[in-house]
Amino acid sequence: MVTAFPTEVDAVIVGGGYTGMMAAARLAWRGRSVALLEKNELGWGASSRNGGMVHPGFKLDLATLLKRDSERGRDRYQASLDAFALVEETIRVNQIDCDYARTGHLELAHKASHFQHLEEEAHVLRRQFGVAARVIPRIELASEVGTSLYHGALLFEQSGGLHPAKYFAGLVRVARDRGAHLYEHTPATGIEARRRGGFKVSTPRGDIHTRDVLVATNGYSDRLVPWLRRRVIPIGSYIIATEPLTADQVHSAIPNRRMLFDSKNFLHYWRLSADNRMLFGGRASFAPTTIPNARDWLYAAMLEIHPQLAGVRVEHAWGGQVGFTVDRMPHIGRVKGITYALGYCGTGVAMSTYFGYLAADWIAGAALPACWERSFPAVPLYREQPWFLPAVGWYYAALDRL
Ligand SMILES: Cc1cc2nc3c(=O)[nH]c(=O)nc-3n(C[C@H](O)[C@H](O)[C@H](O)COP(=O)(O)OP(=O)(O)OC[C@H]3O[C@@H](n4cnc5c(N)ncnc54)[C@H](O)[C@@H]3O)c2cc1C
Repeated sequence: MVTAFPTEVDAVIVGGGYTGMMAAARLAWRGRSVALLEKNELGWGASSRNGGMVHPGFKLDLATLLKRDSERGRDRYQASLDAFALVEETIRVNQIDCDYARTGHLELAHKASHFQHLEEEAHVLRRQFGVAARVIPRIELASEVGTSLYHGALLFEQSGGLHPAKYFAGLVRVARDRGAHLYEHTPATGIEARRRGGFKVSTPRGDIHTRDVLVATNGYSDRLVPWLRRRVIPIGSYIIATEPLTADQVHSAIPNRRMLFDSKNFLHYWRLSADNRMLFGGRASFAPTTIPNARDWLYAAMLEIHPQLAGVRVEHAWGGQVGFTVDRMPHIGRVKGITYALGYCGTGVAMSTYFGYLAADWIAGAALPACWERSFPAVPLYREQPWFLPAVGWYYAALDRL
């Protein structure tokens, strides 16, 4: 059914990924009229291209989070556990067919000193958050992962893997069924505050007047809100998918089907898909690259970790943009009355779903939990081009090599 483009709604959402779609579904459920604007196709951004690892936690490690901001840091970590539960509940209640499996994940220690940190983290997770987490020493690691490269691991049971685009399609269905209006190929090109309150959002299809605007553009944030652009740094992340592995190859690489990532700054993340392909992701540096280049070095990295996969063909390779922040934490807040929710730093399947939900409730009149009321630091001297990325990348790569 073709509906006329609206001129007045309660809320305009800019960005059609998990954040925007969950917000649209939740606001519509609360009886608000919603127009979601997506520049490309729905789900075109990271939400249909990611590795599908759903887990609690942030890019910032737990110890630093608690040291920096003990009580509120604790609440924020608890929110990430709630975010994980929200994804599971959303899938269950709406019967979203997205190959979800609660596999658990392993964080693999790239250096011996990292293993010590993981032991401390397991202790805090168990004692302060009641989370089922334990370390696996190097000599026992073969029962979980077929490689001798790592110094041990943290096993975290409360996490799972899904097919990202199928999960997204499920959220679209929920939002549509509840009456949200979703517009593809419709960029928001301007947001203007109205004198009598609310905003006028400009698009090539016409203007929409609205009480509230949510910007949910994460790693694809453009010039729409320059203030946000100076705070969210787009960084590329890449994935290869192999041909389906044989049962023997699966068993020798990841016998218990855990999801895996290592403890490097330039980390690798990998898991098995429902049809037994190896999905292997990461980035080599912060410098721009091409998909063929990324495919070649990801394949080489995969074989360095799992030499038993030599000869396995790569069938697909792709990339997408994650939104990094200076403090390595996501942010939800308001600037000049415009609500935003973004900055997931590459770990956003759970948190973007959660922020979409939280942003919707906030717009509908609920209070924002105090732990999210915080300043959002800008990147010094950053306007348009992230000129500093090659230097920062070089520094982190050097730390990984040390
Ligand atoms: C390769 C890769 C692998 C990843 N793997 C994982 C993982 O395994 N686990 C995990 O937790 N996280 C992972 N992530 C991160 C996760 O995918 C993101 O955090 C999450 O999808 C962010 O969702 P979002 O809705 O905020 O943004 P996005 O899904 O990126 O959507 C933003 C949308 O905004 C649109 N947009 C921008 N400007 C405008 C405008 N002016 N008007 C209209 N629309 C606009 C864009 O077109 C885009 O579609 C990965 C990311 C990538 C790229």
